[in-house]
Amino acid sequence: MRKKSTTAALNFNTKWSYSPAPESTDHVQIKEKYDLFINGKFVKPSGGKYFDTINPATEKKVSSIALASSADVDKAVKAARNAYKQVWKDMPASERGKYLYRIARIIQEKARELAVIETLDGGKSIRESRDIDIPLAAAHFFYYAGWADKLEFAFPGRKAQSIGVCGQIIPWNFPLLMAAWKIAPALAAGNTVVLKPAETTSLTALKLAEIIQEAGLPAGVVNIITGAGPTGAALVQHPDVNKIAFTGSTDIGRLIQKSLAGTDKKYTLELGGKAANIIFEDAAIDQAVEGIVNGIFFNQGHVCCAGSRLFVQEGVAKEVIKKLKDRISTLIVGDPMDKNTDIGAINSKEQLNKIKSLVKIGINEGGECWQADCEVPSKGFWFRPTLFTNVAQSSKIVQEEIFGPVLTIQTFRTVEEAIEKANNTPYGLSGGVWSDKGAKVFKVSSKIKAGVIWANTYNKFDPTSPFGGFKESGVGREGGLHGLSPYVKFN
Ligand code: NDP
Repeated sequence: MRKKSTTAALNFNTKWSYSPAPESTDHVQIKEKYDLFINGKFVKPSGGKYFDTINPATEKKVSSIALASSADVDKAVKAARNAYKQVWKDMPASERGKYLYRIARIIQEKARELAVIETLDGGKSIRESRDIDIPLAAAHFFYYAGWADKLEFAFPGRKAQSIGVCGQIIPWNFPLLMAAWKIAPALAAGNTVVLKPAETTSLTALKLAEIIQEAGLPAGVVNIITGAGPTGAALVQHPDVNKIAFTGSTDIGRLIQKSLAGTDKKYTLELGGKAANIIFEDAAIDQAVEGIVNGIFFNQGHVCCAGSRLFVQEGVAKEVIKKLKDRISTLIVGDPMDKNTDIGAINSKEQLNKIKSLVKIGINEGGECWQADCEVPSKGFWFRPTLFTNVAQSSKIVQEEIFGPVLTIQTFRTVEEAIEKANNTPYGLSGGVWSDKGAKVFKVSSKIKAGVIWANTYNKFDPTSPFGGFKESGVGREGGLHGLSPYVKFN
């Protein structure tokens, strides 16, 4: 039996209100139109087509983005191949490192501008782009810059060599950060790159192209081609690409894996997740409540490692759910450019519709749905923080990735039951364990089949730490030394 808490109950009902604190956009330069970045220059797309990128918080157009055809993909791969053969492959490793350091420093210098653009283009709160996305993107470049001239120590006794041209495809949830995760280790290991950002969030990758120009990186070492699925597919299928690095949905990951079968291309796939966040009775409940909120509502829940399945030990379930509802009721949903905002806009109308349809399915399946009654703006794409109780292991919303601010809550009695339920998913990317007992944390975390487990915390990222999944969450690791190895080969 859990002892009654001696700490005072959390009281959020203080009726504090916040004055608006909008981030300024005066220092931001966004061009009306962006071309493709190929061979060190911005060039027009061969088909002459452009598409709009909009601000999901206002539905207003932000800029026009070039649509790369397969002829453009071919041009970018050729530029990357030439740069690989003629300059990058044989450049002294310490020189390669200097370019990466330079890119990292320029990202830091332009951090404010990059944060604002990330928020305008993708809908995430300015606080998160300012404090998480952009600093972590710079940190990845700094970290891998350090490895460039130490490859022989990274893989002792083996001679690591570059692979060649890497095709890299990234999603819309962490646009600049995902670009950094992909580009930094590839370049450090001596490869060249063709990167395709997601259709709805190309802007910070194109800003990165400007930074790359400013850093004086030799032409063709990094090429950035914008477009939708067919552009990505053309990159995957290009015969002169040696490695594919993909982050996105499990469905597209499967398609890519099929199309690579029988080729000698290397690949890493960073796919979906449906993480269990497990709260034991002996956990520090107030901290756990913060961890649950951070686990599922960070970045509007558009996070592959989001703690989207909450498991609470029966004895504290009532208390946790009550405190959770109290806390969620204080979250500010709205203008992502306001520094007070906790939850920004849903990235696209398409994603909003997907969230809505899964929530409807959850209700039809008998789930009990609770939503914060916060105000949301009339224009733009919004979804209130949502909890589901009375759901079963077989419920669609417990099994499928929603990729939005929706949490399912279930209870358990024993450690074994928690482990069994946590592992009952096709995914295996991440998880969280909250307990006062180190031995219990260790036992549970070692029995959950997931690439990353956080103990008494959630959603902590560091460039030195490997990240990646098991089962349908993908293959390969990014970050740390593990993230360097998919970009090298050994004789
Ligand atoms: P996708 O997997 O569709 O897209 C990821 C990237 O792949 C984008 O750049 C996309 O381009 C590109 N792409 C699309 N089709 C192909 C193809 N046939 N060949 C090569 N590249 C392709 O994810 P979405 O962005 O549409 O999101 C859908 C779902 O994916 C989400 O609801 C979520 O469940 C999951 N997801 C998981 C992520 C993770 O980090 N694990 C990240 C993002 C999404 P474009 O966007 O231009 O179509």
